[in-house]
Amino acid sequence: ASRFSEVELGPPIEVFALNKAFQEDTFEKKVSLGVGAYRTDAGKPWVLPVVRTAEKALANDETLNKEYLPVLGLEVFTNLATKMLLGENNPVLTENRTFGIQCLSGTGALRVGAEFLANNLGYSTFYYSKPTWENHRLVFLNAGFKEPKEYRYWDEQKRGLDIDGLLEDLRNAPENSVIILHACAHNPTGCDPTQEQWTKIADVMEERKLFPFFDSAYQGFASGDLDKDAWSVRYFISRGFELFCAQSFAKNFGLYNERVGNLACVLKSPESVAPVKSQITWTIRGMYSNPPNHGARIVAYVLSNPKLYEEWRDNIRAMSSRIIEMRKALRSTLETLVTPGNWE
Ligand code: PLP
Repeated sequence: ASRFSEVELGPPIEVFALNKAFQEDTFEKKVSLGVGAYRTDAGKPWVLPVVRTAEKALANDETLNKEYLPVLGLEVFTNLATKMLLGENNPVLTENRTFGIQCLSGTGALRVGAEFLANNLGYSTFYYSKPTWENHRLVFLNAGFKEPKEYRYWDEQKRGLDIDGLLEDLRNAPENSVIILHACAHNPTGCDPTQEQWTKIADVMEERKLFPFFDSAYQGFASGDLDKDAWSVRYFISRGFELFCAQSFAKNFGLYNERVGNLACVLKSPESVAPVKSQITWTIRGMYSNPPNHGARIVAYVLSNPKLYEEWRDNIRAMSSRIIEMRKALRSTLETLVTPGNWE
């Protein structure tokens, strides 16, 4: 008998199973509304022109080699990524109390941050929105958190944010709970708090001593503007919060399979930076030792070149405006066809 014969088949991952079913479907007019990956008018994946430019330049650069990166990643990348999130002139940059850690895309940044919080600070309770991206719970549980909790978010009746429920749930959260917040473009509802509502959320989190862990998987996708989409994170920082933010470059750079992400950390005091970095170094050392190079080099190449940075912003605007147009077109067709329901 095999030692593995007792292993039971696990459930399929919905989003990947749906994608596979889509690919196997032979219906000519099929449309995929599953995986959140950008498509062109022709329904094809899109490699951003700036990414092609960067890759060609990198391929021709004979000075680059395949040596290991440091455990915390490519520093030029983490610095630029952190700046893109915080804004060039954020005071925490000159106060030397922020840094980034290169991670395996957004998911990896969530995992590294969560594992550090569980192991080094002993945090055990985390809250995610109801509903949320289906992976938050698993990532935090696997990282060592013990108490998964939901906070109310979507109001079915009102078809909008349940701000009162949300605030009430946060008010009842134990001190040092980690609250996962979507920086913008909430997945799956697409409904973000207004600036006024963010203020109220920050008030309660400050009062209850809760730890904000932002998930920024869509910077630039919600509004087409990188700064606008980072407003929530920057606001919390301006209020004096310490926080983590998991940044993904999967969507806004179209680098899904390169697994390039950054864990941006903002601390109260510069003295904590070295110890926290050294502990996260050990977290990563025992997990995958050090990150891959290619995606981080692409992002760093683009963000450090003003002309390419501008071109990238144009690419983002093209993607976000197409997404917005598609939604409008979908709605108007549903209404034209008198599809039952309210499409407002
Ligand atoms: N967080 C949210 C809300 C997401 O929607 C996604 C991807 O769909 C991620 C994180 C992580 O993506 P990745 O690990 O590919 O960067």
